[in-house]
Amino acid sequence: MNLEKAGGRLCSGKRASLPAARPFPVIQKVMASMAHLQKEKLQLQEELLGLQEKLAAQENDELSLSLQLQGQVETLKAKVLEQAQEIGRLRSELGGTDAEKHRDLLAAENERLRQEMKACEGELRELRRQQQQQAPCRDCHHRQENAELQEQLSQLQREAEETRAKLVELDLEVQQKTNRLAEVELRLKDSLAERAEEEERLSRRLRDSQETIASLKSQPQQIKYIIKTVEVESAKAKQALCETQSRNQYLQEQVGMQRQVLKEMEQQLQNSQKTEAQLRAQIVMYEAELERAHGQMLEEMQAMEEEKNRAIEEAFSRAQVEMKAVHENLAGVRTNLLTLQPALRTLTHDYNSLKRQVRDFPLLLQETLRSARAEISQAIEEVHSTNRELLRKYRRELQLRKKCHNELVRLKGNIRVFGRVRPITKEDGEGPEAANAVTFDTDDDAVLHLLHKGKQVSFELDKVFPPQASQEEVFQEVQALVTSCIDGYNVCIFAYGQTGAGKTYTMEGTAANPGINQRALQLLFSEVRGKAADWDYTITVSAAEIYNESLRDLLGKEPQEKLEIKLCPDGSGQLYVPGLTEFRVQSVEDINKVFDFGHVKRVTECTNLNEHSSRSHALLIITVRGLDRSTGLRTTGKLNLVDLAGSERVGRSGAEGSRLREAQHINKSLSALGDVIYALRSRQGHVPFRNSKLTYLLQDSLSGDSKTLMMVQVSPAEKNTSETLCSLKFAERVRSVELGPVSRKAELASWPSQEQLEGDSPGSAATPGRGHTSHSPGQLSSRSASIRRKLHTSGGWWGTLGAHMGSLHPRRLPPQARGKACMRE
Ligand code: ADP
Ligand code: MG
Repeated sequence: MNLEKAGGRLCSGKRASLPAARPFPVIQKVMASMAHLQKEKLQLQEELLGLQEKLAAQENDELSLSLQLQGQVETLKAKVLEQAQEIGRLRSELGGTDAEKHRDLLAAENERLRQEMKACEGELRELRRQQQQQAPCRDCHHRQENAELQEQLSQLQREAEETRAKLVELDLEVQQKTNRLAEVELRLKDSLAERAEEEERLSRRLRDSQETIASLKSQPQQIKYIIKTVEVESAKAKQALCETQSRNQYLQEQVGMQRQVLKEMEQQLQNSQKTEAQLRAQIVMYEAELERAHGQMLEEMQAMEEEKNRAIEEAFSRAQVEMKAVHENLAGVRTNLLTLQPALRTLTHDYNSLKRQVRDFPLLLQETLRSARAEISQAIEEVHSTNRELLRKYRRELQLRKKCHNELVRLKGNIRVFGRVRPITKEDGEGPEAANAVTFDTDDDAVLHLLHKGKQVSFELDKVFPPQASQEEVFQEVQALVTSCIDGYNVCIFAYGQTGAGKTYTMEGTAANPGINQRALQLLFSEVRGKAADWDYTITVSAAEIYNESLRDLLGKEPQEKLEIKLCPDGSGQLYVPGLTEFRVQSVEDINKVFDFGHVKRVTECTNLNEHSSRSHALLIITVRGLDRSTGLRTTGKLNLVDLAGSERVGRSGAEGSRLREAQHINKSLSALGDVIYALRSRQGHVPFRNSKLTYLLQDSLSGDSKTLMMVQVSPAEKNTSETLCSLKFAERVRSVELGPVSRKAELASWPSQEQLEGDSPGSAATPGRGHTSHSPGQLSSRSASIRRKLHTSGGWWGTLGAHMGSLHPRRLPPQARGKACMRE
């Protein structure tokens, strides 16, 4: 019962509904403890189930025991039946006078056995009653088994009843047989009595006859007389005597026979008595056997009963212990539940308040959203108007910038000349030949001094890079030029100088330390990416080579094919090269692929690349096409990066054949370039672009508002001083005409004449390039340097423009500030 109640409570505990979890720490904690309790409850239920299973197992054992008992009862019953049959048989066999006594005895025995059986059944009932009392759970499933057992028992009882009925029948039969036996006995007695009577009668007659004879013998006279009379009358007597004698004889025979029969019957009686004794002994034996079996059965029943009681007690005590534990757990769970109730109450309270909040939330949200939407649309409107204003300003600024830029270019001249001195390398060898012949002005980064044949010659360019200048520093100075190509300007960057002076290093650089080519493309990519919001840009790359005045496509399928430069058929006067391959590039990987491809082409075409490259001009043409999405404005800018052929004067050293031809071509193209630049910078009406393939190809990028940078590469080694001198002269000649025609006039008024320049030979000046004015050299150089620095810090030549740009332009510098240069060829 306790178990049931506990189970019921457990079940009701399990069914108790809990509030839904909310994302609050208290609720989570409570939920966690409740989950823990649930888990404990489940464990208890599992234990209970285990106990119930054990109980079921014990009941099964009991069932098997009772089955065994029933089996034994059955065997006993069978024995009883057998004995009853045996008794019946004996009875039928006996049929004697003691049969009744036996029957009575057997009946008594039967009665006794019946009593015992009743007692057994009573015990069994008692056991069952006890079992029912001890049964912990009335609703257990083995109750059904009990019912089945009872069913079986009642069947057995029915069978016992039937057996009893059969026994009664047998008794009846025995009775009948006993009755018949009594009749037979009676008849036997009657016949015996008759026989005795007959015997008696016969013996009496015999005796009478004998007596008659004796009396007759004792009376001889008489007898004689009688005899005589008898003899007289004897015929009749004799006959009667004979009859009597025969009759006597017959009777004696009969008596003998009857005696024989009697003897036989006595013999039969003796045999019957013997058999009866035997049967009695057998009955005694059977009774002893029955007694023993009964005793054994009782013992076994007792042992089983004890076993059962013990098992039940054990199970009961175990169940009690387990129930106690379950109760304790239940008590714990109950106390937990009690402590949880307040928490649950607060949680419910929280939950309700939250529910209210959630209910109110959509309204609040709608309200907030409405106001936010209104604010956002107002802000968007404001932003739109600001954007429109900004766009307007931006376009105006763009135009202003271009205007200012053009103005700056006009003021500064669009051709700049840089010098870069490479470091002394191992290839320069050792000794006086490899001695450094180039020095720099510490105050002016545009001036360098060359010690040539014992004389120091000074040169002033727009910027001079010393040997320690890094690729990055060099690029910083040219990057404004590169980016201007995005704005639609054409740009040319030339590397000029003798072979080995560092042209390829400056333009291409090494894989680890790339030169202007790769850095320019990278910068273009990043700039284009920065403007991607408003502009669509495409960047294409072509690579070409000019060797012996023939143009070849380095990226084409037919590198040997000579390309022609033609006028656009649209009449725009623009030039183009039919068949020149253009690659669209979008990443550094693309650039590397293009460069590698071009290199491979150059390498496979030439037996000695260095030799060949020094005799040809290598061009990298980058075209940047842009479309302003908002205005529809289209721009096209070209960046031409040219690694020129070596400028050394081969022709003078008596070269012949192809070498001489190469040298002539190179000289021609380089001086054509010089001429073009000169003509451009001196704003001449005619610019001789067509004098060489190089200038003709670059015509677009050299004329108009295009920008040009000449990077003059020089070697500092003593042995190269005469070539260095020539390169620097070339540079300065280009640069010396940098001013526009109007300004030039003013400048030329104080510009040293050709004679002066001739006279101002290297070494003739104690302080070369300086000292021709009233200013001290230091003053002058530092002034021009500071102006240049200002220009550089304000974003480079073509970079951002300051309002004071005009006043900072070198054009305004006194001519003395420009170093004198040796202009002699
Ligand atoms: P060019 O192309 O004018 O014939 P290179 O660029 O091939 O000359 O340079 C010749 C050598 O001098 C190369 O080995 C190159 O690495 C080295 N060189 C040139 N300029 C520099 C420099 N600024 N710093 C270090 N090495 C240089
Ligand atoms: Mg080279």
